[in-house]
Amino acid sequence: MIRLMGGRIVDPSSGRDEIGDVLIEADHFIDTATPNGETVIDVSGFIVAPGFVDLHCHLREPGFEDAETIATGTRAAAAGGFTTLCALADTQPSIDTGSDVESLLTQARRDALVRVLPVGTTTKQRQGQELSEMADMAAVGAVAFSDDGRAVRSASLMRHALEYSLLVERPIASHSEDPDLVDGGVMHEGPLATVLGLKGIPREAEEICVARDLALARLTGGRLHLAHLSTAGAVEQVRRAKAAGVRVTAEVAPHNLVLSDAAVTARPYDTNARTDPPLRSPEDNYALLEGLRDGTIDCIATDHSPRRWIDKACEFDQAKTGISGLETAFGLLMRLVHSRALSLTELIGALTHRPAAAWGLPYGTLQPGSAADAVVLDPDQAWVVDPERFLSKGKNTPLGGQTLRGTVLMTIANGGIVYRNGL
Ligand SMILES: [Zn+2]
Repeated sequence: MIRLMGGRIVDPSSGRDEIGDVLIEADHFIDTATPNGETVIDVSGFIVAPGFVDLHCHLREPGFEDAETIATGTRAAAAGGFTTLCALADTQPSIDTGSDVESLLTQARRDALVRVLPVGTTTKQRQGQELSEMADMAAVGAVAFSDDGRAVRSASLMRHALEYSLLVERPIASHSEDPDLVDGGVMHEGPLATVLGLKGIPREAEEICVARDLALARLTGGRLHLAHLSTAGAVEQVRRAKAAGVRVTAEVAPHNLVLSDAAVTARPYDTNARTDPPLRSPEDNYALLEGLRDGTIDCIATDHSPRRWIDKACEFDQAKTGISGLETAFGLLMRLVHSRALSLTELIGALTHRPAAAWGLPYGTLQPGSAADAVVLDPDQAWVVDPERFLSKGKNTPLGGQTLRGTVLMTIANGGIVYRNGL
C-alpha cells in the first residue's frame, strides 16, 4: 500500500480540494487504510491530482520507431504526469482492423509504462476511400476513430462515419482542416507570414471544415470530436452547436492555447514552431481560453508529435509539423495559472476528468475504487527546458532554453510509481 501523505488533494471530478492523504492499494484508490504495511511518501506542500488523460498523442510505433516508440513515448508521458494516452492511428501500417488494435495492445503490454488506448482510423489507411473496420476495432479496445493528420475529404464518407459512431458508441475525432484551403501554407495567415515571406493558412481552412463536420453531426446525431481547435471562429461555432444540442466534444492543444505565431520568429524561422494547425494570433489564444473556461472546449490534449531531428533541421516550408509536447505540457500550461487566466483547479480538470468524460473513459479521478493514477505536482518550481534531456525521442520543441514554472514530481500509474523527480 502507498500513502501519499499531507498533500493538497485537487480532484475536480469530485470537487475535492483539501489537505489530506491519498491511499493506494494494489492498482486502485481506497478510502480507509488497512493494517498492512504501507509505504509513506511525504508530499506536504505539493499538489496531489489524478493522472493526466491525453486524448491525442502520436507514439509513432509501428513504423516510425526512429521518431518515437511506445517505450519512449510512455516514459515521456510519465515524466509529464500523463497516465492515459490515446494513441493516434497514423502509424505504418495504420490501425485499420481489429488485429491491428490487438497487436498495438500486445506491444503496449510489453513496453508501455502508462496506459495506452488505441484510436483506429476512420478510413482504411487514412486514404478517405472506404470506412475502416470500426466495429471490429471497437470490440477489441479502440476508444475512438480518426484519420488525424488529415481531414476525411468526402463529406459523404464523413456522414457514414458519424452514422457508424452511433453503432459502435465511439466518437469520430476529426482533424478539421480543408486541404484545398491549406494549399501548401506553412504558418498562420497574417501580417507575420507576410513579413517572413511564408505562405499562410487562413483560419477559414479550419472553420469551413468545422462547419461541415458540425452540420454532419447534426444530420446524423453521431458523436463528433473536434481535434486541436486553433481559431476563435471555430470556438464560436462549437459554442452554438452545443447550445443547439449537437453531440460534439472538442479539444485544444497546449501550444495552440498558449503560444502565438510569434514563436516562429523567437528563433529565426524556428521549424519547431511549425505545427498543424498552425500557432495563430493572441486573439485566437484568448478565444480558445474562453472556450475552455466555459466548457465549449471540453479538454486539453497534447497532440504530442515527436519528429526526427532531420525532419526539423531544414527550410521552414520543408519541415514536418508538430511539437514533442508531453514533457512540457504542464509547465507551459501553468503560465496560464501564474498569469491568473485559469485557476489551478480548472487546469487540472481540463487534463483529467474532462477528457475522460468527453470519451466516456473511467479515468482522471481519485475516487476510491478507480484506477490508481495520480500525479504529485509542484506548481511553483522553475526549470529550464532542455530538449536533449527529454525521455521522448522527439526533441522538437520551440521551448528549448525557456524557463517554465511548474513541474511533475511523481507519477503513479495503475498503482505503480512510474516517475520520480526529487521526492
Ligand atoms: Zn491533427
